[in-house]
Amino acid sequence: MKPRLTEQQLRKFYRLLSVKMIDFDCGQLCAPKNKGIPLCCENDYVVPILFHEEFKWHRKNSTFWKRMPPKNKTIRKFIDESASYYVFSQCPGPQNCRRTKRSMNCMTFPLEPYVNRDGEIDGLMYVNGTNSTCPLIGKPKKIFNPLYIANSIKVWKELFNAYPEEKETYMDESRKRERQAKRKKKKLRIF
Ligand code: SF4
Ligand code: SF4
Repeated sequence: MKPRLTEQQLRKFYRLLSVKMIDFDCGQLCAPKNKGIPLCCENDYVVPILFHEEFKWHRKNSTFWKRMPPKNKTIRKFIDESASYYVFSQCPGPQNCRRTKRSMNCMTFPLEPYVNRDGEIDGLMYVNGTNSTCPLIGKPKKIFNPLYIANSIKVWKELFNAYPEEKETYMDESRKRERQAKRKKKKLRIF
């Protein structure tokens, strides 16, 4: 598969996303109720996705990330139906996590871009979920580091230039989330 992201871009994305999203360890909010495992690090249920260039770049330097074997029908279906440029991966788990090895997926969760009808990123929104899937979901904007938010938007913009399909996906998702919010008579929160 032809690479669309350079190593230089990946290094830049990782540097921008390495800024702290919040100033406390949010794993303390969910891990104690989940046998010590943060909910977003549950490799048995949450399948981390890396862009194929990102996976290749990691594999050049270490074996931290491995391809996720399709352990069951659900994971197999998920892989089959997803974009071919994703690599479904597994890490060594939270006990052996290394901050510098986290994927873009790990570093951006639980926020994702809100893309307006003109295809511009207006900000970030929470991923579709509730605070039972991630206790950060629904927390006030003030807990998020403004520098992290600005950096994350920079990353998404550059990523969308390389992967216009991703922009389309988030445009559709943004419309869906607006409809959901409208049905609930709530305003979609944009950071
Ligand atoms: S991002 Fe959410 S699910 Fe992941 S560790 Fe923090 S609170 Fe838990
Ligand atoms: S790399 Fe670290 S943060 Fe990412 S899923 Fe694995 S344990 Fe969690």
